[in-house]
Amino acid sequence: MAALAQEITSQTQPCLAPEELAQWQEDLAGRLERLQQHPEQGLGFIEEQVRQCTLELQRRIVERAMQTKADAVEENCPCCQKPLIERKRRVPKTIHSYCGAVRFYRTHGWCPRCEQWVFPADAALGLLENSTASPLVQEMCALLVSKMPCEQAEPVSARVAGIQWSRSTLAREAQRQGDRAMQKRQSLTAPPALQPSLAPVGLDQPLKPFTLILQIDAWNIRERDDWGQTQPRRQRGEEIKRWHWVYTATCFRLEQRCRKGKRRALITERSSVATRQGIEPMIQQLHAEAMRRGLTQAERVLVIADGAVWIWNAVQDRFAQAIQRLDLFHANAYLWAVANQIHPANTAAARRWVKPLLQQLRTDKVLKVIGTLEELKPRLSHAAATAATDAIEYYQNHQTRMQYAAGEKRGEPVGSGAIESTCRQMQCRMKRCGQFWSTAGDEALLCLETFWRNDRWELLFPHVAITAVSGN
Ligand SMILES: [Zn+2]
Repeated sequence: MAALAQEITSQTQPCLAPEELAQWQEDLAGRLERLQQHPEQGLGFIEEQVRQCTLELQRRIVERAMQTKADAVEENCPCCQKPLIERKRRVPKTIHSYCGAVRFYRTHGWCPRCEQWVFPADAALGLLENSTASPLVQEMCALLVSKMPCEQAEPVSARVAGIQWSRSTLAREAQRQGDRAMQKRQSLTAPPALQPSLAPVGLDQPLKPFTLILQIDAWNIRERDDWGQTQPRRQRGEEIKRWHWVYTATCFRLEQRCRKGKRRALITERSSVATRQGIEPMIQQLHAEAMRRGLTQAERVLVIADGAVWIWNAVQDRFAQAIQRLDLFHANAYLWAVANQIHPANTAAARRWVKPLLQQLRTDKVLKVIGTLEELKPRLSHAAATAATDAIEYYQNHQTRMQYAAGEKRGEPVGSGAIESTCRQMQCRMKRCGQFWSTAGDEALLCLETFWRNDRWELLFPHVAITAVSGN
């Protein structure tokens, strides 16, 4: 007991003792000396030696500061703030921090009100139950695993962040952080009156009339929730669905979209949503994002998407006042399909045939295009006539959404390129050869990805505020 008490006291000295500093300086001097004598060791060696030899010092400082902080935490329940009653005891725990393993002692006690055992210091330090990751390591796992496959994250995290964890441990920690992000997202999707933590964007400035643009799209992902069950389930005659839709959307103000020449437009500020949970949850999240970007103050709200029926039904439901626009490139594709059937072996001729019709689509003469196709149809081959029928039907369904020239005059996009490029980027991470996801796993990663994209990382990892403020 005396030994334990002594260990605790020595750990609560937050600063380094002079002899520890002297020892470090000596170690550093030795390393630098050897390095100076080596003709082939450049700055990289200097950086690495200083980093390695200072890491242990950092580890001790972190460990002691952590203990001091834990000791100062009041012994109250983190859920209800009631003081913990008797049966309190000190329990050690080892945490993996960015600079190595750190060990500390904290109080464990019983909350009579919540009827549970709690560690008040763990909550105050930002530690999670069932995890030994420090908040910085939690963040690294979330960031790396949401950006790259675990088998790559493993060596990258070891090299860049000094985290020596297996891919499965990294994945488990990222999943924990993703689950936390999903809970946070849930509270952010609640009606605005119930969201104290997130202020609307840009509404503090004097109000100029603005246009809000929403774009919606979907892509699919391969899942396997039933490892080892495929054959038995097939034999039972159950249908096995591997591919599932990920519903995505983005929203931004027109003035935040800059276009120089023919280059792809750049959007300086935007919100993204992505979910595997269905159309309705996606639309709810999009609505919350649009509210944050001034949905109710916008002079004009414009939705751009492809021809998928579910999109326009959902838009009609939730954004009834919005102007609807069919993505021009999807509209063009139907004309190209006809062109390629009429001139199957001659791309130049197909191009010549389609060009004036594309021009008519772009200048809001969709009725003229429909007329031309109708007139042509009886003289076409069976395949070309089928393509023409598809095009006519598509244009008839969407003709009210095909006002491109008027939109271009206002500087609005005619296509849903912004959301399509977001989808492509997400697919680069989520749709690789041989990858299978579980529903819980992909939703957690998608959620982390949107927090990162929407500049809300700080809500999950409050410590990033320090780097943001102090810069370099
Ligand atoms: Zn309690």
